[in-house]
Amino acid sequence: MLSQKLHDALNAQVNAELWSAYLYLSMALDAESKGYKGIANWFHVQFQEEQAHARIFMNYMLSRDAKVELLPIEAVPTTWETPLAMFEKTLEHEKKVTALINNLASIANEDRDFASINRLNWFIDEQVEEEENARDMIQAVAAVIDNKYGLYMLDKELAARTYNVPSPLASAE
Ligand code: MG
Repeated sequence: MLSQKLHDALNAQVNAELWSAYLYLSMALDAESKGYKGIANWFHVQFQEEQAHARIFMNYMLSRDAKVELLPIEAVPTTWETPLAMFEKTLEHEKKVTALINNLASIANEDRDFASINRLNWFIDEQVEEEENARDMIQAVAAVIDNKYGLYMLDKELAARTYNVPSPLASAE
């Protein structure tokens, strides 16, 4: 059985992942409204990945016979000054998520809950990737800053990003 403390923290994490999904959907909409269809696509893929993260946590809680309680999702910002600002916010946000995951892992460690530690290890690896992706995007956008053609080409490149289910753990069946 999950400890009450870990149960509550996992429940809060479901909400945090759904808030992340909402944040990236908002960025996708803002980018699309400004004509950056490729950047919008990149964030739309992020939106889908965050929903998969939430699903993995929900599946795990259910498999441990823990009730999932869906909490209200807080409002998100709706506009960003530049594409660079979006990716900087993405990195800042993912660092916060990493801290939340690390906190969950600490609780699981205190509980000597080895199954939870194991599942959280997947997220620890995933966060390394999330932060790296955001850093790569900051670098790519910074490289074409003030170069409209460069940004146009980068936007075209980002239109090719496709969503892949991050893990079979995200299955809703
Ligand atoms: Mg996430």
